[in-house]
Parts: sequence; C-alpha cells; structure tokens
Amino acid sequence: SATATAWAAPTILRFAPTSRSSATCRRWTRRRSGCQLFSEPGAGSDLATLATRAVRDGDEWIVDGQKVWTTMAHVARWAILVARTDPSLPKHQGLSYFVCDMTDPGVDVRPLRQITGEAEFNEVFLSGVRIPDTDRLGAVGEGWKVATTTLMNERVTIGAHAAEREDGLIGAVTKTWRERPELRTPGLHDRLLRLWVDAEALRLTAERLRQGLAAGQPGPEGSAAKLTFATLNQAITGLDVELHGEEGLSYKDWTMRRPKDADWASRDAGFRYLRMKGNSIEGGTSEILRNIIADRIMQLPKEPRGDVDIPWKDLPR
Ligand SMILES: Cc1cc2nc3c(=O)[nH]c(=O)nc-3n(C[C@H](O)[C@H](O)[C@H](O)COP(=O)(O)OP(=O)(O)OC[C@H]3O[C@@H](n4cnc5c(N)ncnc54)[C@H](O)[C@@H]3O)c2cc1C
Repeated sequence: SATATAWAAPTILRFAPTSRSSATCRRWTRRRSGCQLFSEPGAGSDLATLATRAVRDGDEWIVDGQKVWTTMAHVARWAILVARTDPSLPKHQGLSYFVCDMTDPGVDVRPLRQITGEAEFNEVFLSGVRIPDTDRLGAVGEGWKVATTTLMNERVTIGAHAAEREDGLIGAVTKTWRERPELRTPGLHDRLLRLWVDAEALRLTAERLRQGLAAGQPGPEGSAAKLTFATLNQAITGLDVELHGEEGLSYKDWTMRRPKDADWASRDAGFRYLRMKGNSIEGGTSEILRNIIADRIMQLPKEPRGDVDIPWKDLPR
C-alpha cells in the first residue's frame, strides 16, 4: 500500500536506530499492507491533541484508545501509530510513535461507509494492545517530530506522485472527450483545456519537486502540491460529470464494498466525483495546508495558538 511504502518506510528508515532501521523497515514493509493510525474522533486537523494512551509496562507498551478514518485498516497487517505517553506535558511533547501489529487481539477494525457507498476506511478500537518497545520509532516524547516526517512524505506522495502526461483523472475525462463527440459542448471544451494545462503544470511541478527532494527529507512544499492536487481533482471530476450529462448524474452501484486498493481512474464518472470530495480532507485539509503554506513557505505571522504550553491533561475537551 502507499501508506507502507511511500510514507511509513521513509519514517522507519529515518527514526529506527541505525542498527535496526533497515531490519525494521524490511520486517514491516515486506508485509506491504500498512495503515496509518493517526486521526481520532477528537483529533484530526489538530492531531497533537490526540488521546490514545500508551503506558509503559517493562519492555512493552500497552495501548488503549480509538482511531478513525483509517484507510485500508481492514486489510492492513501493521500500522504506524501515534499515542500519548505523557499527558502531563504540552500536547506536542507527550507523544510517541510506534509500529503496531494489526493482528494483536486488542485491535478491533470496524467499517465506515463513505459517500461513495464503499467502506475504504474504518474506525479502529485499541484495547490493551501490546507493542514491544523495539517497535517504537524515535525517542519517547519525540512522536510529533516523527509524525511530521510521515505527514510531509504523505503530502508529497499524494500531491506530487510520478505520472505520465494524461495519467489519472485528466486522462479519463480527455478520453471521454475524444471518444464520445456527441457529448461535447463549446463551454466544456474551454474548461477541459484549462484543466488539462493545470494538470500538466502540476505534473511537471511535481517532477521538479521530487527531484529537489531526492537528496533529503521533504519540506512544506509538498503541502502546496497536495492542495493543488485536491482542487484540481475536484474541478476535473465536476467537469467529467457535466460532460456525461444525465448519465453522469445516475449513480448505479451503491453496494457496500471493502476495496483492497485505491483504483479511482478506472471507475465511472459518478464514483470519481464523489470519491474526490475526500481529497481536500485526507492527508490534511485544504484549510490546514493553506495555513502551512502561509506560515512555513510565505513566512506570514503564525495563527494565534493559546494551548501549546499547557499540559495536555489540562486542556478543555
Ligand atoms: C478519504 C480519507 C482517508 C483518510 N485516511 C486516513 C488514514 O488512513 N489515517 C488517518 O489517521 N486519518 C485519515 N483520514 C483523516 C484525515 O486526516 C482527517 O479527516 C483530517 O485531518 C481532518 O480532520 P477531521 O476530520 O477531524 O476534521 P477537523 O479537524 O474537525 O476539521 C473540520 C473543518 O475545520 C477546518 N479547520 C480545522 N482547523 C482549522 C484551522 N486551524 N484553520 C482553518 N480551518 C480549520 C478543517 O479544514 C475542516 O474543514 C482520512 C480522511 C479521508 C477523508
């Protein structure tokens, strides 16, 4: 899965102790299906407020809590997990980062049905899950730093993945335009051309970004790529539905499925339109990405935050 190879693997390589990193990375990413246990019912955009607890017990940690929106948890063999190890510290400081075995008896995965009708993601309940300390990444209390590495890799992967010209969604709508001339209208032609140019500009910018990153860890630039990716995908799939006319509006299949991978481009226009709504939420909402761009790239004044120095246990919830 993308979680395993594109954003968990670089995190494992960077934060597992050098003597263990390649072995840990091999051990987990060999079982390719991984998932990401970050978001919680009370902690999404403000991930650092998360409440899942990990309590040390000898050479192990015991984890209790609830995660939500966990993509592909139903097929995942393992997970990357952020949990609170010290509630007496401010929210960013009391977190630690683990690799969790999804076959542990304390892991309960339940489907969450999406706007598409399918259940690609899940809620995950963790009750007394035991994680060996050797599966901790980074120092105890360093979880926020480790999670930031994962999120930056995730945003680059989502927004700036390698693609051929006319790959993916722009390819699907362009193919329909070419193959079904009876659907064409002059207004849609103009919009299609603009989106084609935007898609090509994003593809080439992504190529440049990936080359720039090849030498090091990604910075906040991936947020800009991911923001553009989401905006563009929603515009393309809106055009796609309009192009298909009545056919685009009829949503034929509402079967509750549990997909095993994310294959969007081969689906029909109605599915693509609904699924892409999630693009501006998953991996960080577009509002949060704009905040990151304003703060870290444009160096504008930071958003006022009154809770960063208060012990997490004293924050109002
Ligand atoms: C398809 C999909 C797959 C996902 N997969 C995973 C996964 O595998 N693992 C995982 O851990 N999570 C996953 N998520 C969860 C995702 O990361 C969160 O939904 C996201 O971070 C937003 O959190 P939230 O849903 O709690 O919304 P909230 O944080 O409650 O935000 C609600 C609204 O308020 C806005 N908002 C919040 N704070 C600010 C602010 N400071 N400034 C401006 N606006 C703000 C947000 O932009 C949003 O519009 C997935 C989500 C989707 C849609």
